[in-house]
Amino acid sequence: MANSIRYFIGNWKMFGVPSSYKIIEKFESHFRKDKKNNKKYKIIIAPPHTLLQDFSKKFKYKKISISAQNCHYKDNFGAHTGHVSPYMIKNLGVKYIILGHSENRASGETDTMIKQKVELALKNNFVVIFCIGENKLEKRKKRTLNVLKKQLYNVLNKKLNKKNLIVAYEPVWSIGTGKLPASAELVNSINHIKSNLTKIFRKRIPPVLYGGSVDSSSVHLFKNVRLIDGFLIGGASKSAKNFIDIIKNFYK
Ligand code: PEP
Repeated sequence: MANSIRYFIGNWKMFGVPSSYKIIEKFESHFRKDKKNNKKYKIIIAPPHTLLQDFSKKFKYKKISISAQNCHYKDNFGAHTGHVSPYMIKNLGVKYIILGHSENRASGETDTMIKQKVELALKNNFVVIFCIGENKLEKRKKRTLNVLKKQLYNVLNKKLNKKNLIVAYEPVWSIGTGKLPASAELVNSINHIKSNLTKIFRKRIPPVLYGGSVDSSSVHLFKNVRLIDGFLIGGASKSAKNFIDIIKNFYK
């Protein structure tokens, strides 16, 4: 059974300039008008670091929350050229942070670093959106379930504040490719993630989202997978129409 609130989280990756707040305003306007369903879901948008301060001010008293996309794994301040710490981001008024995204894992982020990031971000009172997922080769070798379990256990433990955790299952081979897992495959993976989360945290586990090529034409395929607590959406979240249509089509 899914948690009662569903998440629609937009990961903008390296996209957006100050005027892009107009896209988020359209999301907000849809949310306000959507009286029939808007108590059932939450929208969170993750713009790049350059826009966090401006957007978190603009949307402070509104219905949309702002998320960061990554942070450094240690220290509040330090000799880490080009990096920002969770402490610095938190001071901008940002509440959520995506960690462990496969695009960052691909450029050298290890489970050990992700664990440090998750712990530091939770210490700074963030809600962490923790990404896991198997790559194409791991899927082909039928190692998906082992990989997911390892990624979960390498980072999470029962001492963490589970109320501030969201897990996003993002098969790497599905991100930006238009390829989707078969429904049975997806159910199997989400069940596996939830049962391992239950082993780690006992009762009341964090929500588990799906991410990978979700758009307005594919979202209906996930309607029947009731275990999914929402979606992490990359490419399609950069367009107001696409993102709003995802929500509309999900509740149609
Ligand atoms: C992502 O980057 O987290 C993602 C899910 O991307 P896309 O929706 O473009 O596959």
